[in-house]
Amino acid sequence: MSGEALLIRAVTVVDGTGAGPSAPRDVLIEDGRIAAIDDRTAVENVAILDGAGRYLVPGLWETEAHLTRSANGLPADLLRKWPEDGDVPRLRANLRAYLASGVTSVVDLGGPTEVLTALREEQRRGDLLGARLFVLGRQFTAKGGQPVIGGSTLAGVTTQVDDAEEVRRIATAMIERDRVDGLKVNYTTGGGPFGRAPIISPECLAALVEVARAHDLPLFAHIDDADRAAVALEAGVGNIQHMFDPRPGRFEADVERVGALCVERGAFWSMTLSWFESYARAGDPSLLDDIGVEGRVEPAVLKELTEDPRSMWRTMPGEMRAYFKARLEAADSVLAAVNRRGVPTSVATDAGNPMVFHGAGALREMVLMQAAGVPPLEVLCAATSRAAEKVGRLDQLGTVAVGKVADLLLLDADPTADVANVRRLAAVIQEGVVHAPADLRL
Ligand SMILES: [Zn+2]
Repeated sequence: MSGEALLIRAVTVVDGTGAGPSAPRDVLIEDGRIAAIDDRTAVENVAILDGAGRYLVPGLWETEAHLTRSANGLPADLLRKWPEDGDVPRLRANLRAYLASGVTSVVDLGGPTEVLTALREEQRRGDLLGARLFVLGRQFTAKGGQPVIGGSTLAGVTTQVDDAEEVRRIATAMIERDRVDGLKVNYTTGGGPFGRAPIISPECLAALVEVARAHDLPLFAHIDDADRAAVALEAGVGNIQHMFDPRPGRFEADVERVGALCVERGAFWSMTLSWFESYARAGDPSLLDDIGVEGRVEPAVLKELTEDPRSMWRTMPGEMRAYFKARLEAADSVLAAVNRRGVPTSVATDAGNPMVFHGAGALREMVLMQAAGVPPLEVLCAATSRAAEKVGRLDQLGTVAVGKVADLLLLDADPTADVANVRRLAAVIQEGVVHAPADLRL
């Protein structure tokens, strides 16, 4: 996939490295890549895009999605068995929804390996419109371990193990045969109202770290409590996902301990504010306005969410709401400080969970990070270069630089003044192909 040569004239570049807005630049795109960035490009036979008064940023990333779920809040959607009962058309629609929000890359954090890698192949051939897909394959967990929904582990999206040798064999096959882009472990016994479940052994965790390292691939861990987060980091896991459940009287010490480990190890910590917010505010119509679902979320998904009596939009138990509110407030209270002390973070939401929409959720995460005190430029890095770095693709993606893949957004307003301006899309460019936002609306 790569469009004709394209020149974006006189555009202000915010390149995703953390540098501020540039003076007006001409950005030349050829063969799907950024070919030149200067201030007076003279070329013939190229399409021209007027960048005057506009801002060019790298395409955004979502680094925690579950593409097999559609965020419609229906238990049947969450419990679907993959691959046999999988809804592949909806999965494809979920992947496409990202582009409507300007999210050009997405990392699936634990889904049916063969289904997702087949889509990734289709996409590489240029046959599938959607965010660039990175696949971690089925998530590793204990036999009968989390994610437990409806009383049993989600079988279609997990690899349940209790033996380190088996972990080595399966993980190596996923990497060498399926070419997964990383590995995921569900490293939790369950949070709050979710109920307790077994967790994999230290030996199994160590085997995952060993295999990921041997192949130079990232290992992501879902965590729900501070102790497990620390154990995972000490074992060599490079990416922890979610703010943990705050323990009364120990929260500050826990943040200090986990934050220090992240800095020491260079590990990423993504807090997923929007997941917590969506559960805490289930049923509140103003949540949908705050997220900005119009044109960005499939109308069918919204209809199922708000009108079906079985939807978690209507049935979210009070104790679960309270549990997520506590995790949201905990994350809000320390995110900026954790960021300032040098803990790398990337935009991640746990999209696909009820009310955590593919694409729109990532934009909401950025707004929530800014509201928590993270400067807009830092939020933009977390959505671009940091995310690409997290999956080992910063050499090709994640910034506006000569030689990189031309995954870019043209914005009508300055995202460094207010990061919510990433919603002001003038064009979405993926590998050099320009999409008008009106054509991407859902
Ligand atoms: Zn998770």
